[in-house]
Amino acid sequence: AIPLVVAISTAVSAQNGLLIRNRTAFEESRKISAILFDKTGTLTKGDFGVTRIESVDKNYNSDEVLRLSSALEQSSEHPIAVGIIKKVKENNIVIPKLEKFTAITGKGVEAIVEGKDVKVVSPGFLRENNISIPEDAYSDAAETVVFILIDSKLIGFIALADEIRPESAEAIRIFKKNNIKVLMATGDNEKTAKAVSDKLGLDGYYAEVLPHQKVEIIKELQSKGEFVAMTGDGVNDAPALAQANVGIAVGSGTDVAAETADIILVNSNPQDIANLILFGKATYRKMI
Ligand code: ADP
Ligand code: MG
Repeated sequence: AIPLVVAISTAVSAQNGLLIRNRTAFEESRKISAILFDKTGTLTKGDFGVTRIESVDKNYNSDEVLRLSSALEQSSEHPIAVGIIKKVKENNIVIPKLEKFTAITGKGVEAIVEGKDVKVVSPGFLRENNISIPEDAYSDAAETVVFILIDSKLIGFIALADEIRPESAEAIRIFKKNNIKVLMATGDNEKTAKAVSDKLGLDGYYAEVLPHQKVEIIKELQSKGEFVAMTGDGVNDAPALAQANVGIAVGSGTDVAAETADIILVNSNPQDIANLILFGKATYRKMI
């Protein structure tokens, strides 16, 4: 039989943006001592707007930088891609055809466009390939910047801005009051990660994290005695969601992530997790 408290909590949770898939997750939630958030779409809105498009190669102007990247981004579901395509539509750009699209896991996308090898990638990818990052790429620390390569040569970059969710600050206040460490793991660059972490007053962050590294981060926290909750989305996050003591798939999460998770965060709102923990503590206090 389902214990009464679980039945009630499941019903209450559903009204508050949470789907509890694993019966013990509700009970476990009050033991959480550290929570590892993903950034984009959870602590932030995940709604990127293009702020700058720059060319660094005289053979391609900024319109060409945008046009060539649009071919790849139309085939990607990443929030960065959605932001770029919004700009492409505003500018009435005709998106060129592409061949052989591939995702470079945690680093970007690649395809053949008009006979050229085009990549849209992270600053980490440039560093690994000894390509220097243009000085003006990070004029604003809070921006996310992606770089466009043609046949492995840098031709330009696109800067995008996302906003912190208004609910994040209140959620973090509740976690801290309950002695829960708030951490962030993101594939985004160090500067952007630090800007978000500083603004929200996080206890720590991990930047330029590749999907498989999230499992290691959680194991390390667990080895220090932490009882870890983690939010994630996408197929790539499934192993980390499974490793976490409480795995929380965010609303836009794919089926694979949702299947691995203990809890689904329907509106991707961190405040719903804070409320779950408060509710869990209050419920079990009454029972004891
Ligand atoms: P996150 O979910 O934290 O953004 P990802 O692993 O999805 O982490 O992406 C990591 C980084 O890889 C992004 O910050 C970006 O630099 C690059 N990237 C991933 N997908 C794309 C894409 N479709 N277009 C441009 N850059 C991308
Ligand atoms: Mg991602």
